[in-house]
Amino acid sequence: MFEKTRLTLTTWYLIIIMLVSVSFSIVIREVLMREVDRFARSQRLRLEYRIQHEELIPQEFRLRIPPQVLDPDLIAETRRRVNLMLMGVNVTILFLAGGFGYFLAGRTLRPIREMVDEQNRFISDASHELRTPLTALKSSLEVTRRDKKLTLSEAKGVLGESIEEVNKLQSLSDGLLQIIQYQKPNQKMVFELLSLKEVIRESVRRVQALAKKKNISFKTDIPDYQLKGNSYSLSELFIILLDNAIKYSPENTLISVQAKKTDGSVLITFKDQGIGIAEKDLPHIFDRFYRTDSARSKSDQGGYGLGLAIAKEIVDLHQGLIKVESTVGKGATFTIRFPLSKHSS
Ligand code: ADP
Repeated sequence: MFEKTRLTLTTWYLIIIMLVSVSFSIVIREVLMREVDRFARSQRLRLEYRIQHEELIPQEFRLRIPPQVLDPDLIAETRRRVNLMLMGVNVTILFLAGGFGYFLAGRTLRPIREMVDEQNRFISDASHELRTPLTALKSSLEVTRRDKKLTLSEAKGVLGESIEEVNKLQSLSDGLLQIIQYQKPNQKMVFELLSLKEVIRESVRRVQALAKKKNISFKTDIPDYQLKGNSYSLSELFIILLDNAIKYSPENTLISVQAKKTDGSVLITFKDQGIGIAEKDLPHIFDRFYRTDSARSKSDQGGYGLGLAIAKEIVDLHQGLIKVESTVGKGATFTIRFPLSKHSS
């Protein structure tokens, strides 16, 4: 499909370039032909004048007048050469423009091609993730429907499990919608001056109930920095990191959140004492739908590998950087670097 579009685009480039080139050639040809005519006419007039006023020309010069100054063959030859030269120039331009246009069309289409490839990958990843739980849900419901000896409590149990699956599917579709929302080009987001301390405090408050279940406590050390950003997405980012820290930490551990300023940026770190991330997983951790083997094996943790991909989109939108350091069994540390704008403090 892209090869066909590339050829079409090349043809259009060629048509435009050749239209310009041929038009210029016609104009140049006309001007040159007129010049040749003018030259021939003035030569003829000069010759006629000389012939008419032969007696006025001093004797010693008379012999030098060539018998035939005006050579029609020479003029015809000049015309032919001009035509040939212009044709040669146009043929050269045709080949050069064809090659260059083809190259340029490839360059023009490359970002579109990458975008379409990325979208196709996204659709196939999403369909794959949706298909597994949907198939499980469907077969569990069908088996239950066929069961002639099904009791009311068994039916309620299956319904409960199905609702859990539907909840997971709902969170998957919410995650997908979120990621699409953040990836939208030219999206208008309201950026305002925010108190980093406030946003983090609110995010911690929202995950507190979850942490309490595992007796996980928080240690926060956030100076009162002002940061320019979108409050909704920033708290979403912090909740993703805090939620992961809780999910992948054992009971009775500590999660610390700190912020400090370094040359024009603010560094925010989220450090946990959880299971950690293996070195081989670290480069892929922000990829969509990526989950480590240890997370996959714990089905109750139920993530789809979208959280960190969304986190990365939010950090990118704020022109920041996010990185992770971890040692298996010793916890993970996520560090975000946000530039401090002129208005931030
Ligand atoms: P999920 O919803 O599966 O948690 P994420 O994108 O948030 O998806 O995380 C991707 C993977 O990164 C997780 O499956 C988990 O393996 C790993 N991970 C993320 N945060 C942590 C953490 N704090 N400690 C250990 N592993 C983590």
